[in-house]
Amino acid sequence: MPSVDRLLREAALARAVWPRALVVEAVRATLAASRERLAEGRNLPSVGDLVAETIERLERQISPSLRRVVNATGVILHTNLGRAPVSEAAARAMAEASTGYSNLEFDLETGQRGSRASHLRTLLCELTGAEDGFAVNNNAGAVLLALSALASGQEVIVSRGQAVEIGGGFRIPDVMRQSGARLVEVGTTNRTYLSDYEAAISPETALLLRVHPSNFRLSGFVHSVEISELVALAERTGLAVLDDVGSGALLDPGTYGLAHEPLVQESVRSGVSVVCFSGDKLLGGPQAGLLVGKRRALEAIRRHPLARALRIDKADLAGLEATLRHYQRGEATTEIPVWRMIATPVTVLESRARQIVAALESPRVQVATMRSTVGGGSLPEETLPSSGLTIQPVENRPGQSANELIARLRQHNPPVIARAERDLVWLDLRTVGPRDDTIVREAIRTVLG
Ligand SMILES: *Cc1c(COP(=O)(O)O)cnc(C)c1O
Repeated sequence: MPSVDRLLREAALARAVWPRALVVEAVRATLAASRERLAEGRNLPSVGDLVAETIERLERQISPSLRRVVNATGVILHTNLGRAPVSEAAARAMAEASTGYSNLEFDLETGQRGSRASHLRTLLCELTGAEDGFAVNNNAGAVLLALSALASGQEVIVSRGQAVEIGGGFRIPDVMRQSGARLVEVGTTNRTYLSDYEAAISPETALLLRVHPSNFRLSGFVHSVEISELVALAERTGLAVLDDVGSGALLDPGTYGLAHEPLVQESVRSGVSVVCFSGDKLLGGPQAGLLVGKRRALEAIRRHPLARALRIDKADLAGLEATLRHYQRGEATTEIPVWRMIATPVTVLESRARQIVAALESPRVQVATMRSTVGGGSLPEETLPSSGLTIQPVENRPGQSANELIARLRQHNPPVIARAERDLVWLDLRTVGPRDDTIVREAIRTVLG
């Protein structure tokens, strides 16, 4: 086995652009791995092989940790895979805002200091019917900010069935505590009436809160209070209403055979003080939290010190504006990937699946019908008919069990994320961009060997 110094003198490593210490470490690791293989009875590698292995090691070390993956899970808003992919126009706007300067907080008319909030206000009002609108870093931040600005040191009444955990450690009672507001739970887990809210109102009460239980469904002997009833009660008693609709749909998923999600426009129309929702769920934009509603409430929110701590960054702001423009131009279902995926007919997915299967010519790969989900804590238990591929594992052949196939699809470049179910590997094409079909095809070809 050559020495460390001998390998370091090899031209490819001597000229390497990596820091010396990293190269030395990689050479040592390569030699150690070779020694192990030698002990297992394998052949002595050539110097060239050792150099190549060292360079591979170094390249792995400097390659990005955060990478693009192909989502073949059929979960459209997959939180672990980055939720909503943004539209081409939004991606361009984000790149442009990031690589150059912009009028982020600069008024081009007067040449004076401008406001970050000015870019979305009119657009949000036009799309939702609200008097005012504002964007922050994410919806968890929006809820925290709204509660802090509207109810700190006072009481907030919420139905027991809505004091929920959204996921990722976001629990309404905890956020409430952080905001300095006191949570007053009313009703029971399954049934809450308007009279429960009414009875809980005290001189300390500032706000009635509704939270859309986005990620679970309560059915059977249940009752909750309509947002319009809450608004009427709040108006009679001089309170504010905050409506956390979660996903923030501007279009009705019901059009595509899914259940109804509370639309932002409906909530605004009911007269609530503030509606808040996510930018990267059903809206289909970058990570953001949006707040729309009455001017007075929005002014208090914008002026609160936390607004600065939670402010949206310029790239997300640019992407969010571009996303909202799609709704303004009536092209959301063709331009915004999330809506395009929801709207794609199953026949289109089926013919893409057939093409892949025909190209692979393996009896182990078949076209299959399956069900996609929206995910991202919206539309629980709702599914869309879909089509894609199944791979038949061979349990006793090395690398061909269902779990090994899935792991090897993940090792592909770019990684392809599939799932195992009922002794098959499933790849749903609804969440795969049509241009990524060749990646899926080649990844399958590789793992089948
Ligand atoms: C998803 C969700 C949130 C959190 O939104 P983020 O944008 O992930 O911070 C808050 N409330 C509800 C009801 C949600 O569904």
